[in-house]
Amino acid sequence: MPEQDIGTEGLAFAQKIFDDVGAMTKDPAAGYSRQGYSSLENQVHEYIRGIGRELGLEEKEDAAGNLYLTLPGLHRELPALFSGSHGDSVPQGGNFDGLAGVTAALTVIWWMKRTGYTPYRDFTLLVLRLEESAYFGKSYVGSCALTGRLKPDDLKLKHRTKPETLGDAIRSAGFDPEKLVTGTPLIDLKKIAGFIELHIEQGPTLDSHADKRVGVVTGIRGNLRHKVVRCIGETAHSGAVNREFRHDAVLATADLLMRMEKHWEHRLDREEDLVFTVGVLKTSDSAALTKVPGLTTFCIDMRSLSMGTLERFHEVLLSEAERVGKERGVKFEFDPVLRTESAKLDSRLVAHLANSAAAAGIPYIAMPSGAGHDSAILETAGVPAAMIFVANQKGSHNPNESMKIEDFMQGVKLLWKAVETYDA
Ligand SMILES: [Zn+2]
Repeated sequence: MPEQDIGTEGLAFAQKIFDDVGAMTKDPAAGYSRQGYSSLENQVHEYIRGIGRELGLEEKEDAAGNLYLTLPGLHRELPALFSGSHGDSVPQGGNFDGLAGVTAALTVIWWMKRTGYTPYRDFTLLVLRLEESAYFGKSYVGSCALTGRLKPDDLKLKHRTKPETLGDAIRSAGFDPEKLVTGTPLIDLKKIAGFIELHIEQGPTLDSHADKRVGVVTGIRGNLRHKVVRCIGETAHSGAVNREFRHDAVLATADLLMRMEKHWEHRLDREEDLVFTVGVLKTSDSAALTKVPGLTTFCIDMRSLSMGTLERFHEVLLSEAERVGKERGVKFEFDPVLRTESAKLDSRLVAHLANSAAAAGIPYIAMPSGAGHDSAILETAGVPAAMIFVANQKGSHNPNESMKIEDFMQGVKLLWKAVETYDA
């Protein structure tokens, strides 16, 4: 008899979940829209719950509407191993951001049922509510509520297009928003041994590899930002003023950014983790074809797993700005710096994923996550968390987001190996 393999045998089960939830939440305009705390998100939860019933799982819902489907283990007194992700999406997003992690955990449960395997401890699928900030401007609502970190002010946030607030939406989905902002976790977090979240990568790194289609996430990048930087030079006539008399803000800005790119390269050569982006760059409203530009405004977003790397790179930015300013007779003004701390994932659980990949013969890359995830919220609340990334195409948060089911099944295989050997 050939060896049983979740990677091939679980494919149809997983595919059906993607197809069904996709059909349920298809946006007539483009892509998929599953707003958190909408009737559609409720439907998705109801659908997953239905599969749980077919599989004979224990079901529970917390006050925020997060769903827990548990396959009982041999030692029920032990904290359960959790896996899952979020069921919502951005407006006109893809089908896999969030749903992949839910489907992966459910496929692992299906596999345990099918092969008559009883885990050592309880294994719980966690389907988190509203993770995406696109509708109400607040991310991780389900996991923040779960860990007691949702704030009363969060409930007042307005919907992007309607007068409805987040609190209103939570209420109309059938939950009491006031119960979510008491500052206490909704369940005993000590009863979660660990949380493993599978997620599409949302970037091109894994997809650029022929064989390494799965990632073990080492941490979630923090960021350091300036929303507005101004380079103040001197506006002048573009024909009448020779080079030595100019204080050209565009050239000074370009000079600064090219220097920063060189510093960035050096840091990458030293294997530091860093990305550096200027996403907006403008001249003044009065800029014109025949004027030497006297002003630019731009923003800066730098991210790294290491806050130390970010602080040092920021210092370099300020001193290079000083230098370019002196050399070119311009002045750079920075608004107050904004920091978001990087999030470590649980080193023991991350190592367990790496070992499980090796044991299952799955080639993988150890990589940081550039985007934030519910896993970081759980980890900072004291729940050991780790993540598996799966290669995907065309990014995420757009209708073209795609994923190959074979790549996904590699991730599922890794998740299964990690669950199977968790207590070994
Ligand atoms: Zn996501």
